[in-house]
Amino acid sequence: MPKRKAQDQLKGLNGTTDIAPVDGPHSQQNAWSTPGPAAFDFRSDVVTTPTPSMLAAIQNCTLLDDVFMEDPTTISLESHMASLTSHEAALFVLSGTMGNQLALRSHLTQPPHSILCDYRAHILVWEAGGAASLSQALVNGVVPKNGVYLTLEDIEKNVVLGDEIHGCPTRVISLENTLGGTIMPLSEVRRISAFAKEHSIKLHLDGARIWEAVVAGAGSLPDYTKEFDSVSLCFSKGLGAPVGSILVGSKEFIKQARWVRKSIGGGLRQPGVVTAAARVAVDETFGTGPNGEGGMLKKSHITAKKIAKMWTEMGGNLDQPTETNMVWFNLEDLNLTEDEFAVIGKKHGLRFLGGRLVVHYQISDEAVERLEGLMKEVIGRKHANENGSANKKRKVGEKAYGT
Ligand SMILES: *Cc1c(COP(=O)(O)O)cnc(C)c1O
Repeated sequence: MPKRKAQDQLKGLNGTTDIAPVDGPHSQQNAWSTPGPAAFDFRSDVVTTPTPSMLAAIQNCTLLDDVFMEDPTTISLESHMASLTSHEAALFVLSGTMGNQLALRSHLTQPPHSILCDYRAHILVWEAGGAASLSQALVNGVVPKNGVYLTLEDIEKNVVLGDEIHGCPTRVISLENTLGGTIMPLSEVRRISAFAKEHSIKLHLDGARIWEAVVAGAGSLPDYTKEFDSVSLCFSKGLGAPVGSILVGSKEFIKQARWVRKSIGGGLRQPGVVTAAARVAVDETFGTGPNGEGGMLKKSHITAKKIAKMWTEMGGNLDQPTETNMVWFNLEDLNLTEDEFAVIGKKHGLRFLGGRLVVHYQISDEAVERLEGLMKEVIGRKHANENGSANKKRKVGEKAYGT
């Protein structure tokens, strides 16, 4: 039974015992002891589900109030994250979007002000316009000249400095790493960071998936994070926690972000039940050291590279290089729409969202075997269609990437 196989795999990884589902109205959804459908779900790493050791941590968490800043489980997560990232302070937030938006709101003061970022950045494209509504900011999305990541030259060309009356000055540069699974090299971050300091521009990192860049060997967590005034990091994607992200920065900045968090209803009463799970996600999935030592992400990078290699060797093309846990199948060259690909996936018991495959740590070996069969089928289709014209049909605004 494939499902059993996936369960065993995860159980082995967690090194903990199964917790049997309790009989009752919710027993169908009680999947603490198994990755469940996540084992076959390539749509995003948000599908990873919490583990038995997270449940055990939740059972042992403190249940005190965090608006009063009295909850030891939450305070301990925040101070651990501050020290792991070489920052003074940290704030637990409900989502990556909340972390980014609080950071921008806290760095910015009074318009006219603008934020410079990659044109594909989550803060620009996938956060419901929060930078406009919450911070009244103009967001300047820049197309990187090298097609993969912003360089200092891209920034210099697009930054708005000075107080010329027609301009909307750049007050924050927001970088994203990884972006679509690709890495911004540490050397480039350092160049941009020096530039930002020189011009008194705040530098924010949307590090929802910075863990992946670190595990790929691009630099340690503090090597990256200390270059920024603020960083938001996600617990609920690749690390498998049920809820949450963390925002790190100076004491003064975090105090301001905590205040803004309260104003949008993000002050939490007994968050120990989620911060306990987040701590396990960091320790067990990312690992205990600054390079993800002892963690579980490395294996998914190896699997992603293996999938990319199989795909290209069979004649498929990739839209982006495979540097971490994402593989970007080019579907257009195969005359395949995203919907058609999802339907073929379903037939093989796999789930897709567009041509981007996210190889999270709960993906099973069985899923990769099924994927190989699927690749043969869709690439075989290409040869059958070789004389057909490429299908460019795509609905504007519906390309999957955000989650
Ligand atoms: C997922 C993601 C976020 C925010 O995610 P939430 O769904 O709000 O938790 C922010 N930045 C990037 C790069 C992301 O991939």
